Amino acid sequence: MKISMWRNNSDIRIEEVPMPEPGPDEMLVKVISCGICGSDISEWYRLPRAPLVLGHEIGAEIIKTGKNVTKYAPGERVFVAPKVPCMACEYCKNEHYPVCPNVKDRLPGGFAQFLVVPAGLVEQGTYLLPEGISYDQSTFIEPLACVVRAQRLSGLKKKQGVMILGCGMSGLLHLKLAKVRGCRAIAVDISEKRLAFAKTIGADTVINASENVPDRLMAAHGGRKADVVILCTSALSAIDHAWKCVEKGGCIVFFAVPDPGKEVTIPINDFWMKEICIQTSYYCGPPDIAEAMKILAEGLISVDDMITHRLPLNDIKKGFKLVTDAKDSIKVIIQPNH
Ligand SMILES: [Zn+2]
Ligand SMILES: [Zn+2]
Repeated sequence: MKISMWRNNSDIRIEEVPMPEPGPDEMLVKVISCGICGSDISEWYRLPRAPLVLGHEIGAEIIKTGKNVTKYAPGERVFVAPKVPCMACEYCKNEHYPVCPNVKDRLPGGFAQFLVVPAGLVEQGTYLLPEGISYDQSTFIEPLACVVRAQRLSGLKKKQGVMILGCGMSGLLHLKLAKVRGCRAIAVDISEKRLAFAKTIGADTVINASENVPDRLMAAHGGRKADVVILCTSALSAIDHAWKCVEKGGCIVFFAVPDPGKEVTIPINDFWMKEICIQTSYYCGPPDIAEAMKILAEGLISVDDMITHRLPLNDIKKGFKLVTDAKDSIKVIIQPNH
């Protein structure tokens, strides 16, 4: 079977490896669809574990179950979470699932034709796909779960104004969710193409990042700034916009962060007097995955319109380039068995 070995964004090699055999508590799955995530192309984040097989947004079909596996059967369609928290430690009890120190098993990368789901993930991290969720759509479960969590942490309420900086896949998911929640959404990006798309999926206002963003926001938003600002880009200029566009008592969410080594200066005295909160949001937890699946299964958010590319495993390098360039693509899905 084929896998893709990632060393960096310009060195991804297809390799032939023997078909793995699942142990008694494991199962072998065939990867049908696997999304390329913004975090996959983030070299500073991925390089410490390289070389590795990336891909954590998978929709897969069960091929073979170990003899102790009773919950699942071959032929079933599943999403498998990249890792599962213990749900018992102090962090988990306080819903800080992403920092649980007791994570044992990790999902092997999905940019491969097949993979073995480890025991811990068979037990806790596997979700049967409902009828209404296709394999391609299932690649949005994990990203949407991260978006669900970030918006909850931001305290965003119905009818509030939310500004989304960066209209890539995650920014657009934030936009779609904010509209479902009944909020006013302001989308900012440097790409007119992405802004045009943001408009078609419900953005109340779109602003090109090269314009005077705070002025444009206030003009379009009745003289008010945004109650919640969500950073979905690593561009430093966007952070400056975030500082200037948040309303008193509001919250700025770092959904994406700049590369390490880049200095970020917080106007803390100003924020102190305006009661502005700075929130980080990294990854998601089991309740967020459950909520994301529910949203997709009920069709509250459509995702098919965001899929711009479906590529075979052999074209994975092209896929990474499309996501890195951030011009002609929104969601790029690898179909390793196509
Ligand atoms: Zn992801
Ligand atoms: Zn834990």
